[in-house]
Amino acid sequence: MALRSPAEFKEGLQDGRVIYYKGKQIKDIVAHEDLGIGVEHVSLDYELAENPEHRDLYVWHDPDLNQPCSRYFKIPETTEDLLNRRRMIEESTRLADAVVLLIKEIGSDAIFALDLITNKVDSKFGTEYRNRLRAFLEQCKVNDFSLAVAQTDVKGNRSLLPSDQEHADYYVRIVEERADGIVVRGAKAHTTCAPYVDRIIVLPTRAFGENDGDYAVSFAVPVNAPGLKLIASPFGSPPISSFHHPVSSRHRMIDTLTVFDDVFIPNENVFLKGEWQYAGPLANTFVEYHRFTAVSYKPPLCDLFIGAAALLAHYNGIAKASHVRDKLTKLITYTETVRGLSLAAAHDCLKQDTGAVVPDITKTNLAKYHFANGYHQAVSWVQDIAGGLVVTGPDE
Ligand SMILES: Cc1cc2nc3c(=O)[nH]c(=O)nc-3n(C[C@H](O)[C@H](O)[C@H](O)COP(=O)(O)OP(=O)(O)OC[C@H]3O[C@@H](n4cnc5c(N)ncnc54)[C@H](O)[C@@H]3O)c2cc1C
Repeated sequence: MALRSPAEFKEGLQDGRVIYYKGKQIKDIVAHEDLGIGVEHVSLDYELAENPEHRDLYVWHDPDLNQPCSRYFKIPETTEDLLNRRRMIEESTRLADAVVLLIKEIGSDAIFALDLITNKVDSKFGTEYRNRLRAFLEQCKVNDFSLAVAQTDVKGNRSLLPSDQEHADYYVRIVEERADGIVVRGAKAHTTCAPYVDRIIVLPTRAFGENDGDYAVSFAVPVNAPGLKLIASPFGSPPISSFHHPVSSRHRMIDTLTVFDDVFIPNENVFLKGEWQYAGPLANTFVEYHRFTAVSYKPPLCDLFIGAAALLAHYNGIAKASHVRDKLTKLITYTETVRGLSLAAAHDCLKQDTGAVVPDITKTNLAKYHFANGYHQAVSWVQDIAGGLVVTGPDE
């Protein structure tokens, strides 16, 4: 198959998955009036792969499979690979009015991290995780899977390691080992896009100690696996007015509490099982890739700030006022610093033993820091230029 249409992607979601939202079980996520907005939003990923204007960027011919695949599944080996990835993420986010899609970006970040870490675990323990991971990656390419990542555990008391918590299930753990797989129990918080993806990749969230072996677990799981339950957050429920909320009424990311109620994971989908020494390195390596993704999807939002501020200045007749020009200049400086640092991170990437590259860690972190640290200030410049009407204005 290799590439799916938006309709095929939506059909794939009708698989009996268990989703709860506002206290009710949702039978058809595609048709659901709130959650369906998320499905429609991420379908853009599949549209871009079909669109002649964007196809060259979003589709990659895999020489091993000798077929076209989503370029998100190409393990980055050069600066050019990272720059392509950056462009894909920035462009799709821009086309979705500054809301990232995140149905292949985050999952491929996890795959890249697992590819590096399973290589190390296999060398030390003689395991075969990397072969399993490579087989899973091939499934992702061939089936054009969408993916979520469940890393953040509910955690309980943050000062304590998992095995010291008052409740054993505050971190996802292995409760049973069978000849053909493992059974896992617990819950992950904040899993973005989980209700409308094909597979969830589970990663450890932090470094563990030697008593935490049952918690050092990583695997991939289909969303309709028996015992897997998603409780979707109502945060960002669609606003009533699409006039007042032109973006959030059409583009939405849905996060879940992801409950593993004794879920069986076959051996072929298990990528870490008890090697607690590698939980921390896996968590960190994922973040090194994922932060680069994050700083690739921030610039379109910053661009929106600049455009909105310039338009509002024009409406208010103050475009030539010196304090307005000063604020617009600062907004541009803010935006281009994030963009420039993310580009520099790709240029100064670090080659790994496997041949893969990791974006420069310092520059990626600086880009994220600069974005987050300046965010509220940037919004305040737009608010100042806008005046009060954006909040108090009448409806359509
Ligand atoms: C919109 C959104 C989408 C997200 N999407 C995903 C996703 O798709 N997948 C995923 O896995 N995660 C996701 N996350 C999770 C995100 O990565 C976490 O929120 C983040 O890692 C922080 O974890 P936390 O929320 O448990 O907060 P905490 O880590 O508990 O932080 C709360 C406070 O506790 C402090 N703290 C924590 N531990 C300690 C300690 N040991 N000692 C002292 N202080 C401590 C922190 O510094 C902070 O001040 C998402 C989050 C958001 C908000």
